[in-house]
Amino acid sequence: MKYGIDIWGNDNFFIEDGKVKVKEFCQPALIDIVEQVRKEGYTGPLLLRFPHLIKKQIDMIYGFFERAIREFNYNGNFQAVYPLKVNQFPNFVKNLVHLGRDYNYGLEAGSKAELILAMAYNNPDAPITVNGFKDKEMIALGFIASEMGYNITLTIEGLNELETIVETAKKRFGKVLNIGLRIRLHSSGTGIWAKSGGINSKFGLTSTELIKAVTTLKEEKLLEYFTMIHFHIGSQIAEIAPLKKALREAGNIYAELIKMGASNLCAINLGGGLAVEYSQYQDNLHRNYTLNEYANDVVYLLKEIANRKKVKEPNIFIESGRYIAAHHSVLVAPVLELFSQEYTEEKLFMKEKNPPLIQELYDLYQTINKKNALEYLHDSIDHMESLLTLFDLGYVDLQDRSNTEVLVNLIIKKAVNLLKDKHYQELLSIQDRVQERYLVNFSIFQSLPDFWGLGQHFPIMPLNRLDEKPTRSASIWDITCDSDGEFSFNPKKPLFLHDVDLTQDEYFLGFFLVGAYQEVLGMKHNLFTHPTELSVHLDKNGYKIENIIEAQSISDILEDLDYDVKEIQENLNEKIENSDLIDDNVRKYILGEIYLLLNDNGYLKTIKSEENR
Ligand SMILES: *Cc1c(COP(=O)(O)O)cnc(C)c1O
Repeated sequence: MKYGIDIWGNDNFFIEDGKVKVKEFCQPALIDIVEQVRKEGYTGPLLLRFPHLIKKQIDMIYGFFERAIREFNYNGNFQAVYPLKVNQFPNFVKNLVHLGRDYNYGLEAGSKAELILAMAYNNPDAPITVNGFKDKEMIALGFIASEMGYNITLTIEGLNELETIVETAKKRFGKVLNIGLRIRLHSSGTGIWAKSGGINSKFGLTSTELIKAVTTLKEEKLLEYFTMIHFHIGSQIAEIAPLKKALREAGNIYAELIKMGASNLCAINLGGGLAVEYSQYQDNLHRNYTLNEYANDVVYLLKEIANRKKVKEPNIFIESGRYIAAHHSVLVAPVLELFSQEYTEEKLFMKEKNPPLIQELYDLYQTINKKNALEYLHDSIDHMESLLTLFDLGYVDLQDRSNTEVLVNLIIKKAVNLLKDKHYQELLSIQDRVQERYLVNFSIFQSLPDFWGLGQHFPIMPLNRLDEKPTRSASIWDITCDSDGEFSFNPKKPLFLHDVDLTQDEYFLGFFLVGAYQEVLGMKHNLFTHPTELSVHLDKNGYKIENIIEAQSISDILEDLDYDVKEIQENLNEKIENSDLIDDNVRKYILGEIYLLLNDNGYLKTIKSEENR
């Protein structure tokens, strides 16, 4: 079972000796990296970052666009900026800026805080673009960036922003920034993030407003600073057709604006939207094009329009975020429990004389074999339903009910094992009733918010045992107390996991493609925090683990909510002092326990990890 790694894996990972390995240099297994980190005392979920996968995406974007530019003999250049909103964490951003230096990779900011980040970290000659709603202060900040020497373009979302730019330009110190106009297109993307485009979108200037903007810029003698038009038709553009439509619209607007006298207009900014393949299932792909096709279409169409309208071919700007960031990180979370695991033979307490249906369950359990497995499985589930009804009616007692649950779970386990060499279709046909629930040490709200909010799929697979056939149809439960914290089993997109005995072995699940949006959108539901993170650097000598940042401690997260941690500690101390714990040593011991707990993170600790400490 390959868990679709050939579909979503981007050739970044592969399976060998039953383990998922990183396809780079020494090709370490993810599980070995995880075990090394856990030996150092870091428990709970881990977010692994792979900087070489950031580099790879940057190289790919530039590679394909530069190839298309050569192929079509295109007379404009290509330039990418990274939109900070996709992942602002320092171990991502600093790596990206460093790795993108040779390409002059720039940054895009959508708020004052992001603009400050861009001004602090951007490569010296690389562009900065600014989108989103702006006030006076933010526009002034843009001018400051320009005065500092940055090549900055402020994209105007509405005419009132243009007025503020005109006013600000008069007051500042001479160095005017580049002005971009966001255009409102009729076209929009498709999919769950398609809202950013279209005539009713939140952003951009209509045709009438564009004409007004150019007239104003002319009157105010600022037209020479107008260099770029910008659009963004939504994230994760699933189909290429709407993008092509948008390009035709934008290309023609570009040409028309130049004809109106915007002679320094030289760039079209395509925004983001380049999609990532998240699917684990060939019959359910999340995009219908490749980067190669995307780059070729953009270059070809823009050339065609420019040539037809006899204007210079525009420089191409892209603000791809998801495509650059998604691949670089993997969330690894330990499985804490298989719910059926508590049902062992030792838990079975058959009576001298049992109700007939229970006796029959017992016989099914004793005599089940390969041939009758499916039939016995169905029978046992029917018996269970009858027995539960009998219990409700008062005909069987609690011990009988317990024996029923134990027996049925034992039968399911045996049957699933006996059937494992058969086609999965047979297991699928009964999956709803024989699911195994895996309790996993992580929070969906914190680490996969787009699954919770939008039903976005992320590839999931175990990190090892991949040479064994997984037999359990799995639903995954996180450790929040929220019933939304679950990936339920979906027969259309089935997830099978291994039947592991967690008293003997550990079992880790990897959640892939989580590098875009998930980290900063993640929320502290139940006060679970951003997981412990680390960067894994690979080279020909091996791999190095760097920049470990442990998940926030309990006292830190309480402080984030503006609690006074001192006060909390004093309250606890006082209560312990006033309790009837007579012995001073006991009191001291308990205070010590609380102190340790407050300074540790709030994720659960598996038994094995405790032993390692
Ligand atoms: C969000 C956003 C992006 C990034 O989109 P991706 O789909 O992540 O590539 C780019 N530009 C603008 C203006 C955005 O709002």
